[in-house]
This record gives sequence, structure tokens and C-alpha cells, in this order.
Amino acid sequence: MGSVKLSEVFPPAGHVQRLYCDDCRRPLDLTFTNFHENVSGVDISIAGLPVLRCMGCNKDYLLDGSRVAIIELHKRAREKGISSVTVTRRKLVKDFRFTKIPFLYDADDYYYIPGLKRSFHDGFLTPVYFNREVLLKYDASPTCRVKFASPTYGTIDGDVFSISFGINKNGKVVMWLGDIAGLPEPEQYYLRSHNVESDHSIGSEFYDGQIECIYTPLPVQSQLFKMRSEFVDACFQKFGVKIAHLDNEVVDLASSFNPPVVDTEKERRHVADTLNKIYIESLDSGALGAIISKAGGDPKNLRSLKRLQTALESIDGAADVPKLLSPFFALYDLRVAYSHLTPADTAKAVLKTVTDRLALAEGSGLLVIYERLLEEMAYSFEKLTALVKT
Ligand SMILES: [Zn+2]
Repeated sequence: MGSVKLSEVFPPAGHVQRLYCDDCRRPLDLTFTNFHENVSGVDISIAGLPVLRCMGCNKDYLLDGSRVAIIELHKRAREKGISSVTVTRRKLVKDFRFTKIPFLYDADDYYYIPGLKRSFHDGFLTPVYFNREVLLKYDASPTCRVKFASPTYGTIDGDVFSISFGINKNGKVVMWLGDIAGLPEPEQYYLRSHNVESDHSIGSEFYDGQIECIYTPLPVQSQLFKMRSEFVDACFQKFGVKIAHLDNEVVDLASSFNPPVVDTEKERRHVADTLNKIYIESLDSGALGAIISKAGGDPKNLRSLKRLQTALESIDGAADVPKLLSPFFALYDLRVAYSHLTPADTAKAVLKTVTDRLALAEGSGLLVIYERLLEEMAYSFEKLTALVKT
């Protein structure tokens, strides 16, 4: 048990608790702690007190509502002349009555996660959590599209509805209760089937964009994922099929991917594998084959990247397609070059073809290759999307 002065429990003047850690800027998680402190001479113990916790710094931030509860307990103890209080906080159970479908959610999230509580539409911004499989059906549906504005923020667009979602650091999908209630009932029933208990973690580009209206420039790897989404969507508009599919692995990899900071064998393999899975392996070979066949070609014996090239070449004005896809072929070969299954002299020769295509010096390291590769892929996505949209 520690000890604090009552004056320190009062909210600091002008202080507004935000979702971010003062020290490391990471988003905080709502959690329920067992508070036990000597507060100016009164031993106060509260089980299940809501606090915001930085999982990185392992530091707790007292919420205003919790501060008020402590001050109140202290006051009452003084009035009664007792020196110790032990209470258990009862969890808030509340039905916000937005929809008759019984979604699992935690009203504490709405009241205690900063920025969600409003004086109108009480409960609208209550986060409702889902497992990630919820996105897969929408992606697989011919009438719906899952679009990503970043790896942790996107929208599901259907024929007659659209809803925004976030992906938190535990890989859970988050949507607002009020938004869900506005969906057609069959969609709500579907969502309910993937609904899980809240893990009280909401930090994501979804939260930043929707609550804080923070639109920080996306890191280049997030930007690239967004551009991939735009390209896939443009192809859907053009060809009527989804040329790439979403699976849990792609969502996971995209939202947890960090650029390399060291050049080691392990990091080389990790980066090349991850980028291949997100940008090449997720291509739907069957869908691309169908586009080629429809245009009178024969997709047989062509692998996905070649299929993508052939499909895109069926569009008028596609002369640049091979050049624009070159960074993707380079990415494919980069994995071969970095694989421990590739004999050393072959690996060296393949790596030279990669650096040549990226206009880099022979023997360039991972960090240089990574940076150039992402730049080139971004440029290509932009041009290819424009081509498909013509
Ligand atoms: Zn922190």
C-alpha cells in the first residue's frame, strides 16, 4: 500500500484526461484495478476501480469519476471518525436501448474511455467488440467491400449500408453501438454472431480519426496498405471481382507490421515474408484467371503476379504495366534472395536483380531496399489505380 495526499487526488485544474500516456504517447487501456492507498490518513481500499493503464509503462491514470469516488469515501470516513474503508465497486450494467438485438458491450467503456460520453445520444459511442472473422464474410460477399483507410481503420460498404470499424491492438474489431443500431436487422444478427466481450482497449487510427479528429500522416507502410485497398476496390469496380482477398493473417500482419530497424538475417526474412503475404500471396489467382479468360486469354501456367499483369494489360493504355509491376516482382524475388533455403551464390545473384530493378547499388542492405521498395510500390499503386479507373 502506498500513500497519497488528498490534494493529489483532486483532478488537476484544467486537466482533461485523454487516451494517451503522458510518457510514451501510447493509447491507454481501460482496466479495473484494486486500489489500496493511505489517502491523507485514511486507509482506502476499492476493488474494481476503473483506471486507464499504459501497458507499455505499466502506469495507471486515475479517472475523474474514480477521483470523485475516492474523495467521497475519504470525506465519509472523516465524518464517521474511522480510519479505514474497504469497498467493492459494482460494475455498471446498462442497456442503452439502441437496438433490440442483445449485443455484448460494457457501459463502463462508454463512461470511462475518454471522449466517448456525450450529452446527446447517450450510449451511441459505446464500443462493441467482434472477432476478426466478422470482416471475412463481408470481404467474401459479392455485394460488400471492406476498405482500409489504414491498417487499423476501415469501412464496410454494402449495397444499402456503410459502417466504420477499427482494429485494436489485440486484433479485435470495434464498432460504435449507435452505428450498429442503424444497420439493417439481418446485418445486426450477423454481427451479433461474432460479438465478443469488451477487452476495453480501443486505441487505433479509428479512435484517433473518429474521436480525436487526429489525422496524423500515416507511416509509409500504413499508407501502402491503404493504397492496396484502393487499388483492389478500383479493380472491383472495373472487373466486378475481388482480385485479392482478406484473411485473418493479412489483417494481422498489416496491423502489427513495423518497419525494420536492424539488418539481421531474421529481420530480412521477416520483412520479405510479411510483405509478400500482404501484397502478393493475398492476390486471388482464380479471380485474376477469370478476368484473363473473359478477355480472351489463357491464364494456365501463369502465377498470380503474372496473372495480375496479364489482367491489367487487357485494359487500353496499359503499356506501363510491366514497369509498374516491377517492384512487386522485385519483392517476390527479395524473399527468394533472403530465404535460407536459397544457396548463397544464387541468393547473391537474385539479390542483384532486385537492387538493379530498384536502381540501388549492389550489396545494398535491408533498410535501404525496404525504403526504396515501399516508395516504388506506392508509386505503382497510384498509377495502377489511375489506370484501372480510366
Ligand atoms: Zn506509457
